[in-house]
Amino acid sequence: MTEMGNTLTEEQQALRKAVYDLCQLYPGSYWRELDEKREYPEAFVQELTKTGYLGALIPEAYGGSGLGIVEGGLILEEINHSGGNAAACHAQMYIMGTVLRYGSDAQKARYLPQIANGTLRLQAFGVTEPNTGSDTTQLQTTAVRNGDVYVVNGQKIFISRVLQSDLLLLLARTTPLSEVRRRTDGLSVFLIDIRQLPGFTVRPLHTMINHATNVLFFDNVAIPVDSLIGEAGKGFSYILDGMNAERILVASESIGDGRWFVEKAVQYSKDRVVFGKAIGANQGVQFPIAKAHMAVEAADLMRFKAAALFDAGQPCGAEANMAKYLCAEAAWEAANACLDCHGGYGFASEYDVERKFRETRLYKTAPINNNLVLAYVGQHVLGMPRSY
Ligand SMILES: Cc1cc2nc3c(=O)[nH]c(=O)nc-3n(C[C@H](O)[C@H](O)[C@H](O)COP(=O)(O)OP(=O)(O)OC[C@H]3O[C@@H](n4cnc5c(N)ncnc54)[C@H](O)[C@@H]3O)c2cc1C
Repeated sequence: MTEMGNTLTEEQQALRKAVYDLCQLYPGSYWRELDEKREYPEAFVQELTKTGYLGALIPEAYGGSGLGIVEGGLILEEINHSGGNAAACHAQMYIMGTVLRYGSDAQKARYLPQIANGTLRLQAFGVTEPNTGSDTTQLQTTAVRNGDVYVVNGQKIFISRVLQSDLLLLLARTTPLSEVRRRTDGLSVFLIDIRQLPGFTVRPLHTMINHATNVLFFDNVAIPVDSLIGEAGKGFSYILDGMNAERILVASESIGDGRWFVEKAVQYSKDRVVFGKAIGANQGVQFPIAKAHMAVEAADLMRFKAAALFDAGQPCGAEANMAKYLCAEAAWEAANACLDCHGGYGFASEYDVERKFRETRLYKTAPINNNLVLAYVGQHVLGMPRSY
């Protein structure tokens, strides 16, 4: 545990410790084996559901713990800090926020208690498409109303955990771009039960990390009208909230990764003796680790600022984006310092450094790439001319 923990309440510190302790039951060897076989951490996710951690953000009235994004972040941080990979299940925390804020009472009563007790999994969020990438408003998947169903056609890519999820939150266009005033209008969000869905095909996509991600095909898929969340055409604004939550939670995971790398590097630098002394005595080894530690601690402040604003219901788009950027960059700096410190052993799977190195790299690219965060800050926070 680092000294930052002392700024937290006693409950928050206890939560953090409880999660860290639980994660000790799932050591590096557990994650390593799954990584080699490209398998989903089923046992870990079940344990996390059973203990209530995955339902942390669901209000108590619906069977969850009613905690805030600060606590949600601490849970995910400690998973990564302990050497695990919270990406396997983090989406359950932020996706349900869209249902909670914009779903009807009937939708909330139907889904949230079952998500909280683990009967239903909501792990999949379908936004990205092959032809449009980061340019979300141009997405081409359509949902056309036909009586009491919407008919969905299109393709999605990099949609994670679909095969481990019962439900999918889908963003699709319900009004053609040519008929809307603003490009952000006309998109709608649907909560779909994907367990048996004629015309819906999933093709797993092998990636450099064990991330259970997929390509999805919708071929005249009929979904009930009551799977629409909120009002048709307003889906883009609904998912922005969810995206802020996602960025703060992902930032928290990066903090966990950063701490894991720093602690691992410090330990190794003390233990490894070359030229008759511990390698950590060399400033070429020591300083990059010290710099990475400072970067992680500084980024952590922005994570907590964004999380506090989110929990207070205040605008936090700028802070959530900056937190995601700073935390991902700090974790990457720590990853490189740790890899360098380990020399050749950093490349040997049994040290877990190479696995964590690959896993932490993702957050410079997803859920939003860091270039787009810079563009957002330049244009929307600082008011400079548009590039996108
Ligand atoms: C393992 C993994 C899991 C994922 N899981 C999900 C998921 O569950 N659901 C989901 O919807 N998506 C998911 N994604 C998709 C992810 O959000 C996208 O990959 C990401 O948003 C970038 O989109 P893209 O890959 O199409 O890149 P593109 O939009 O094609 O961009 C490519 C590169 O060009 C640069 N670039 C593009 N436009 C600009 C610009 N205007 N200014 C400067 N630079 C620019 C960026 O640096 C970017 O790295 C996942 C991705 C991965 C790799």
